[in-house]
Amino acid sequence: MTGAGMRMSSLFVRTLRDDPADAEVPSHKLMVRAGLIRRVASGIYSWLPLGNRVLRNVAQIVREEMDAAGAQEVILPIAQPLDLWKQSGRDEAYGPMMFRVQDRKEAWYAMSPTAEEVVTTLVAGEYSSYKDLPVNLYQINWKYRDELRPRFGLLRAREFLMKDAYSFDADLAGLQASYDAMYDAYGRVFTRCGLTFRSVKAQSGEIGGDTSQEFMAVAAIGEDAFVWCEQCDYAANTEAATRRAHEGVAIPEQPAREPVHTPDMPGIDVVAEHLNTTADLLMKAIAFDVDGDLVLALVPGDREVNEYAVFAAFPGRSVRLYTDADFAMRSDLPKGYIGPDFAGATHTIADSSIRAPHGWVTGANEVDHHAKHMTLGRDFTPSEWAEIVLVESGDACPSCGSPLRIDRGIEVGHVFQLGTKYSEALGASFTDEHGAEHLMQMGCYGIGVSRILSAVVEEHHDDGGIAWPASVAPYQVHIVVLPGRGDTAATVTRAAEDLYEGLRARGVDVLLDDRDASPGVKFADADLLGMPVQLTVGAKGVGRGVVERKVRATGERDELDLATALDALTA
Ligand SMILES: [Zn+2]
Repeated sequence: MTGAGMRMSSLFVRTLRDDPADAEVPSHKLMVRAGLIRRVASGIYSWLPLGNRVLRNVAQIVREEMDAAGAQEVILPIAQPLDLWKQSGRDEAYGPMMFRVQDRKEAWYAMSPTAEEVVTTLVAGEYSSYKDLPVNLYQINWKYRDELRPRFGLLRAREFLMKDAYSFDADLAGLQASYDAMYDAYGRVFTRCGLTFRSVKAQSGEIGGDTSQEFMAVAAIGEDAFVWCEQCDYAANTEAATRRAHEGVAIPEQPAREPVHTPDMPGIDVVAEHLNTTADLLMKAIAFDVDGDLVLALVPGDREVNEYAVFAAFPGRSVRLYTDADFAMRSDLPKGYIGPDFAGATHTIADSSIRAPHGWVTGANEVDHHAKHMTLGRDFTPSEWAEIVLVESGDACPSCGSPLRIDRGIEVGHVFQLGTKYSEALGASFTDEHGAEHLMQMGCYGIGVSRILSAVVEEHHDDGGIAWPASVAPYQVHIVVLPGRGDTAATVTRAAEDLYEGLRARGVDVLLDDRDASPGVKFADADLLGMPVQLTVGAKGVGRGVVERKVRATGERDELDLATALDALTA
């Protein structure tokens, strides 16, 4: 197949040297400067030819992986009767976030933010037997959310391209299989798009909540912090993240417990300095109320307790941090001076790092007093052990032990087990082999197709502009022609045209900068637009029978013989 070709002299693009005033993040600035998108209204953009080519490439990767995973492509309407949304209760749930339009008969329509209602109604109308299931339908279509504050270009837009898939199964085992197939396909999509990403289990409010995972692309400007491992696929929300447990170690013989007077010393660091030690050798005992019981959480003085981990350690019970009012009710509990041996605690739950080979400085259960040389097993014994500190960057990965990282992430995908919420509200049922009726088990799976462009640019750019991964680049090769004014100009132009036609004939998509512009302008635009390979065809080089190749992402340069350049470029 012939590769696509485009001449810069005809391409509908005007690059900008300066950042647009309303852009705050690199991807937004660069996509406007490179002429991929133009703002029409707040959070609403026109897609210019180069932007459209990248969008199509990303959509095609998504399409190929969805098809390979057994999903079938459909197109569902953008304008959806609002009555459907009332039936599911989501008209109210979305509130002002949803665009609503009225037709000439004054009937209301929702501008689709997703399509559970329409697709469930569709499947319910066509399928009624267990023999029909499973089925997974997807679309790649424009979606709408009336964001209060659209920003960051395509990252929080009001109109965006999204892939949404919906699976229908006869039972929970089937739902799990459909969900797993989508999960695996998502990994392939984001890998092919050139993203560094991890999947993160979404925090579920209550026990037994819906199963759902978010795919986060690592990006400094991401909206959510998360913990991840570079060496394996471990990743988690900051609340759910844990580190590798500390092993028990032998504690050398310690001096006897020694009370010390520490008056008027607010905070761990002041106490540590007064006692000529460091915060990591102090221990905090943090009071929690667990169904009316006092529970102490023990963590090193330089670490923060993870309240969610303490909640998780007492499943099914009501857990909360002690408040000033709680302390006021208990005159025996000296706030700020609680020790791990406080007799009034029902439980003491200790982080595994409390198993350290040294004694601890702890509260002495008396206002203005601490105790030194508090020794595990001799002076205090926790009733339970767990990982209850908030993970910090550099902590050991619970899966492989490598140092964990904390970064921000852009959510580029989400897989969700819906169960029967929509099939119940919209009547999607089937009869089994015995004639009994059941509700279909549903899953829904979203990918932010236009959002992926922002994530890719956030990861693949430098001061000069975008550096597209080949898989999504608008063109693979950008030929910069510098014919000059001399009598060799025609020869140089001929050489560039030959490369342009030759590459296209071999199926390569090529952009040719044939404009009458200065070398500086052409090179700056080539870096800004970010095609993976730049070829410079100039008078000096052509005189020696060579062209210069530059790899945009690395800046690596070499020279190719004109005679064999086509082979070298398509090898
Ligand atoms: Zn790891």
